[in-house]
Amino acid sequence: MSDKKMQVVFASAEAAPFVKTGGLGDVAGSLPRALVAAGADVIVMVPKYGTIASEYTDRMEHVADFYVSLGWRNEYCGLERLVIDGVTYLFIDNERYFKRDYPYGFFDDGERFAFFSKAVTESLQHLPEGFQCDVLHCNDWHTALAPVFLREFYQGLPLYERVKTVFSIHNIAFQGQYADTILNDILGMAHIPNAARQLRCDERSINYMQGALDYSDAITTVSPSYAWEIQTPEYGEGLDGILRRRSNVLSGILNGIDTDAWNPATDPMIHANYSAADMSGKKACKAALQEELGLEVRDDRPLMVMVTRLTRQKGMDLVTYALDRILSGGVQVAVLGTGDYEEPMRYFANKYPGTCAARITFDNALSHRMYAGADMFLMPSLFEPCGLSQMIAMRYGTLPVVRETGGLRDTVAPYNQFTGEGTGFTFANFNGDEMGDAVFRGARLYWDDHAAWDQLVQNAMAADFSWVRSADEYMNLYHNLHPEIDITKPEPVVAEPEPAEPTAVEAEPAAPASEPAVTEAEPAPKTEQAAEPADDAKAEAPAKAEEPAPKAEPAKKTAAKKTTASKTAAKKPAARKTAATKSTATKAAEKPAAKATATKPAVSKAAATKTTAAKATATKTTTKATASKATAAKTTAKKPSTASATKTATKSTATKAAPAKAAATKTTADKPATAAATAPKATSAKTAPKAAAAKTAPAKASTSKAATSSAAKATVKSAAPKATAAKAAAPKAAAQDSSAATPADKPAPKAKSVSAAKRTTRKR
Ligand code: ADP
Repeated sequence: MSDKKMQVVFASAEAAPFVKTGGLGDVAGSLPRALVAAGADVIVMVPKYGTIASEYTDRMEHVADFYVSLGWRNEYCGLERLVIDGVTYLFIDNERYFKRDYPYGFFDDGERFAFFSKAVTESLQHLPEGFQCDVLHCNDWHTALAPVFLREFYQGLPLYERVKTVFSIHNIAFQGQYADTILNDILGMAHIPNAARQLRCDERSINYMQGALDYSDAITTVSPSYAWEIQTPEYGEGLDGILRRRSNVLSGILNGIDTDAWNPATDPMIHANYSAADMSGKKACKAALQEELGLEVRDDRPLMVMVTRLTRQKGMDLVTYALDRILSGGVQVAVLGTGDYEEPMRYFANKYPGTCAARITFDNALSHRMYAGADMFLMPSLFEPCGLSQMIAMRYGTLPVVRETGGLRDTVAPYNQFTGEGTGFTFANFNGDEMGDAVFRGARLYWDDHAAWDQLVQNAMAADFSWVRSADEYMNLYHNLHPEIDITKPEPVVAEPEPAEPTAVEAEPAAPASEPAVTEAEPAPKTEQAAEPADDAKAEAPAKAEEPAPKAEPAKKTAAKKTTASKTAAKKPAARKTAATKSTATKAAEKPAAKATATKPAVSKAAATKTTAAKATATKTTTKATASKATAAKTTAKKPSTASATKTATKSTATKAAPAKAAATKTTADKPATAAATAPKATSAKTAPKAAAAKTAPAKASTSKAATSSAAKATVKSAAPKATAAKAAAPKAAAQDSSAATPADKPAPKAKSVSAAKRTTRKR
């Protein structure tokens, strides 16, 4: 053992507070600090974007400059240093590539991030005195070429011999796939057969992330569940084969959140501060938020919010499908986000004034107020590598309603009505009715059992989502790569205000422990009833609401009704589940069991098994393209001139033009009943892609086409899991619509469109 510290270079395309478009920025903003607290020396390398605030750029110190070769080019690279909280940031400066008004979304992103990766690798020779890189930790496709360059171009140099590489997948849907002309023109690797072979993903394309998966010494992703999900064709986005082959070096380490920045007790951006011990401020936050958003200010309505990119990944297909039922059932909904589903959100806000609000913008301060003011947080993702929002919500005592996938499965413990345990409400299959049932399980508890609700809130707030545990896991990983370096923790650890219990479920805070017994006796029928089918929205209206919900007749729905309803509900999903269960049950059963984290009670594991099974069955196609590409294609086809379109399309190169067409064609073809009936053109334009996906047969057809055309490598696959859901959903839509209520007669709560903000959300 030496007494050398573990010295880590952490490369990321974004890092809060300098630049953030989503979770990656949060992670790169807080993990390095936690690593420092865990005993490492850390340098974070980030592009010096033109958008970085002058309060930071003014304090940067120029430490080096050199030239980086990129194919036939020789590009300037400056290194600008800034030290914050013990973490050294080195900004990679090249104005031609980075002095633009947004991080991603340009035609030359492939070149820009190849440069970034090469510059990071080259920079290891220009680190501050005394810093000898032991581990180069790269994140997502933007930095994926660094391990490739390192091994192919720098391996012989003594300085690089000791450098081990770690590659973290934050979202496998974004891979950096480009025409292979780039191999020679930009990467300068066409003459290296090994590199060319390992980067190539088809006869015309190369894939940056694929390169990293082959070249890195260790691979991580951001939750244990996602680590095994991406080894399956349903989630692997075409890279599952490589990940299975490299599963011995693949691990899942759950992200944390910045518990200082997200702390209801000290948050200066919320209406009133509160803590688990004194929740009175949360009520005030709710009333203030309802008022701010133009919702009816009343506490007998559970307020459910979303703060999210409005994309397929985030489950917006389910949301648009089920919103009529939810809103007419007496639940208020507010959405903050931008993306492909802006029009449907505006539509619902118009249709249900006072009950639904949409803020189509990226607004960090408002997001704080929404996390604080809401009762529930909806996150029904199609896939979710980790997800930070649900953790933030729990920290604010806002109970998440999530689909059991990826990090959502690992962080949210489903409510157990018999024990009172849990931190939220979950559902297994990607199905709008199941999501609606989960929402109403939450709503019913809110209406009917305050003690149980309060206990859940306490459980959620006591969960430990700090970075401490994750940082320790990363340190262990680094240590495995460099066993000669001791990783003893320094005495003062990161100041974490929260207790460090290992899991949410285990944490039984100060709240009345006496409640559960009561809860156990009663809830069963209630919960069943909550799982009522969509055609009876009334049954879901607040039992105690003095004033009827928009259309729903409140209270009267009674036990009798509920009983039948619950039976019906039980039947519906059954078909889907059964089908799903048979095929992959075995596989799913092994994996979750092996990897399930301590956070999850047995119940959730079982449920999660179903999820996987369902997806596995549904997915019949095997095209490699990514969900993101599908979106990109669609967006490109529709609004080629907008900033967001350009951005989304980025990762696509010329090769993606074909999928774009395909997606566009589908779009018009298969509109789900829901969209047609309820959301005029608004929904139609944006929801349609999922509809396309929903059609199993066409999906298959296009798959085979895609297989033959190298250009059309897109899309069908990741859509497949939805097929079942969307199909099954369609017939119900009509019923829902009819029950859905009185048309909105009030003007819509102004949904502000902020085109600039749109760019901010669009990721990678
Ligand atoms: P993603 O897949 O987008 O990274 P995560 O849940 O991991 O999803 O992280 C999303 C982060 O971005 C959270 O901190 C969330 O609060 C924030 N966020 C998303 N959309 C918005 C928005 N419209 N306004 C403000 N913050 C947002």
